[in-house]
Amino acid sequence: MDDERREPEAGRLVTDMYTAQDPTTQYPRPPFPPQQQDAPGDIHKMDPAPDHGEKTYIGFGRLPGRKALVTGADSGIGRAVAIAYAREGADVALSYLPEEQAQAEEVAELIRAEGRTAVLLPGDLQDEATNVETVEKAVEGLGGLDILVLNAGTMPTVDSIDDFETKTLDHVVKVNIYPLFWMTKAASAHLKPGAAIITTSSIQGFDPSPSLAEYAVSKAGIANWTRALGQQLIERGIRVNGVAPGPIWTPLQPAFVPNEKIEHFGEQTPIGRAGQPVELAPAYVFLASQEASYIVGETIAVTGGMTLT
Ligand code: NAD
Ligand code: MG
Repeated sequence: MDDERREPEAGRLVTDMYTAQDPTTQYPRPPFPPQQQDAPGDIHKMDPAPDHGEKTYIGFGRLPGRKALVTGADSGIGRAVAIAYAREGADVALSYLPEEQAQAEEVAELIRAEGRTAVLLPGDLQDEATNVETVEKAVEGLGGLDILVLNAGTMPTVDSIDDFETKTLDHVVKVNIYPLFWMTKAASAHLKPGAAIITTSSIQGFDPSPSLAEYAVSKAGIANWTRALGQQLIERGIRVNGVAPGPIWTPLQPAFVPNEKIEHFGEQTPIGRAGQPVELAPAYVFLASQEASYIVGETIAVTGGMTLT
């Protein structure tokens, strides 16, 4: 184990994710300082700095030689998943928006530091051609594909039905739902028995907030899609599962949620705090690994105690 990686950054609460400790105080608790960003947001402008596992995730060889494509991989949950996958022995292709290039390059550097291959695939996933191209370039750059993590997402807040706009829902569905179909179709010829697809739903798909109707309906759809495709693709030996995160400290929050809610972010959970991206990674590792051989069509809650109802 690399001691340097476990060294907490100055001023951070974090030690590592393997020593037994009280999870209620393992990471920052609200209140969070007020902060707003333009979408898609930058992890380096967040206060406190989120933990994506850069110095805390170790890896135990659970994904030896696997080839993974992760969407939304520059920041937040996708970044934590990409780092964890590389440390578990996988080569990783990163999909992200072109304006997120600098953050994606940091992830690529961390993957290469593990002796793994990183493939950088910028592109807006709102059209089918970009999805197909992203999958093809991932297959080409990695030499195949075993794991597809469909994690990219957008989350506009709309407080009243009077402010509903068709273009908002179109955008949410184009980013959060269509790529599930487009990428899975493009990848299906390359995925062999033993492969895994993992979606990112949300607690919002089960217990929606009033101002997140457009987002929440898309997240309910993702959990539903996960069940349908889980049944469909297990016939080919491919497992489809999902993760439903609770409130997680990622750029999605300062980019879309107003300051008065940022301050109290995560307070409503039984654990009493927001989750950090790295706390999601083990669920994505587990679902991608052969350890999850009998888990199909399931969406796992990583919510600090909120229940998927
Ligand atoms: P994030 O902003 O770090 O990640 C979202 C990523 O989606 C962006 O980095 C971007 O690369 C990608 N993306 C957005 N629009 C895109 C587009 N048009 N084309 C291509 N890529 C695009 O935030 P995150 O919280 O890590 O989000 C990851 C997933 O987790 C999302 O699906 C989100 O809905 C889900 N989620 C987040 C939370 C939370 O509290 N942060 C809770 C539940 C679910
Ligand atoms: Mg990002």
